[in-house]
Amino acid sequence: MKNIHVRSTIQSYDIVIGNHIRHHIKDQLDKNYSSILIITDSNVGKLYAQDIHDGLNQKNIFIEIVDAGEQSKNIETFYNLHTKAIEYGLDRQSLIIALGGGVIGDLAGFVAATYMRGIDFIQVPTTLLAHDSSVGGKVAINHDKGKNLIGSFYPPVLVLYDTDTLQTLPPKEIRSGYAELIKEAMLSDSGLWNKLLSQHLDRITPADLEQFLEMGIKIKAEIVQQDERESGVRKFLNLGHTLGHAIEADLGYGVLTHGEAVAIGLLFAFYVSEQELQAVLPIQELRDWLKRNEYPFLVNTDRIDELIDLMKRDKKTEHNQIQMVLLNKIGDPVTHIVEENKLKNYLTSFVE
Ligand code: NAD
Ligand code: ZN
Repeated sequence: MKNIHVRSTIQSYDIVIGNHIRHHIKDQLDKNYSSILIITDSNVGKLYAQDIHDGLNQKNIFIEIVDAGEQSKNIETFYNLHTKAIEYGLDRQSLIIALGGGVIGDLAGFVAATYMRGIDFIQVPTTLLAHDSSVGGKVAINHDKGKNLIGSFYPPVLVLYDTDTLQTLPPKEIRSGYAELIKEAMLSDSGLWNKLLSQHLDRITPADLEQFLEMGIKIKAEIVQQDERESGVRKFLNLGHTLGHAIEADLGYGVLTHGEAVAIGLLFAFYVSEQELQAVLPIQELRDWLKRNEYPFLVNTDRIDELIDLMKRDKKTEHNQIQMVLLNKIGDPVTHIVEENKLKNYLTSFVE
C-alpha cells in the first residue's frame, strides 16, 4: 500500500493506493459517520458497490446508481441525488463515497460540496484517468453551454485507489487514462516519459500500471499543491487540452474518450512548440507510439474553422486570445499566446 499526502489550503488529504483496498474502507476512516451514501454508475455499481457496502460494515448505507457516461454530469441528476440524500436522512455527519471514474468523482463531489453546505466525501476512483480527476479538488457538473461550468474547489477527505478495479476497464478507457499519464510525463523530468513510451498497452502488467499511476498522481499533486486555484503553474495541466477539448466538442461527446482526444492535442502541442519555440521534441516517437497503440486520429480537414472557434471559446482562453501550453523541452512547459491565423496554418498542416 502506498500513501501520498496532498496539502491543500481547503483541506489536506491522503491518497492511498493498493490492491483490494475497497474491501477495507472502514479501516481507513478516522470518524464514525451517521450514514453513508455511495454514488456510482451503472457499470461500476454492479462490479464493486457491494464490496464497498460489505466492507463498511455499518447501518445506514445507501447506494445510488446513475447512468454511466458524461451525460450524467447534469443538473437533473445532481438535483435527484440531493433529493435522495434528503429522503435517506443524510445530515452533516454523513459521508458520500464517489465510486467510479472522473464523471462520478466530479458529480458526487459536487453533491457533497453543496449538500447542507458541504459534507465529507471520499473518492474511490476506478479508472486510470481518475489519477488526474481525483487529485486537486475540482468538482463540477456540466451546463448545456459548456463542460464543467458549474462547480467548486472541494477536496475529498480521502482518496482510496484500488488498483485491482482497473482490471475490468475496457481498452479504450485504458488508452484514455494513459494519455493523461503521458501529459503528466511531458510536464515533468521524472523519467516517466521513457517508461510510458517503452510499453505496449496490450502487454502492460498491473504492476507497471500501478507504478505509472503513482508517478502520475505525484506529478499532479506537486502541481496543484503549488497552485490550488489555477492562477499559475496549474494551467500547465491544460497541455494538450486546447485542441483536445475542441475535438471532443466538435465530434460530440462519446465518439472519442477524453484521453483519446487529448492524445491528439498533445501531439499538436509538440508540433506548435516546434514551430513557435523552435523546440526539439520527440514528436515522431509519440506519433508512432500512438499509432501502434491504436489511438484514433480523428481530425477532419474540413472542420478547421470550427475547431479554431471552439479553441477560442475554451474557458481557459483570456481576452479572446488563444493561449496554449507549449514545451521548451520535456519537463519545461510554458504558456504561450498563438496568433489565430498562425494557429490555423499550423492546424491545417498538422492534419494533413
Ligand atoms: P467515466 O467516469 O465516464 O468512466 C469511463 C467509463 O468507464 C464509464 O463508462 C464507466 O462506467 C466505466 N468504468 C469506470 N470504471 C470502470 C471499471 N473499473 N471497470 C469497468 N468499467 C469502468 O470517465 P473518466 O474518463 O474516468 O473521467 C472523465 C471525466 O473526468 C470527465 O467528465 C472530465 O471532465 C472529468 N475530469 C475531471 C478532472 C478534475 O480535476 N476534476 C480532471 C480530469 C477529468
Ligand atoms: Zn484531461
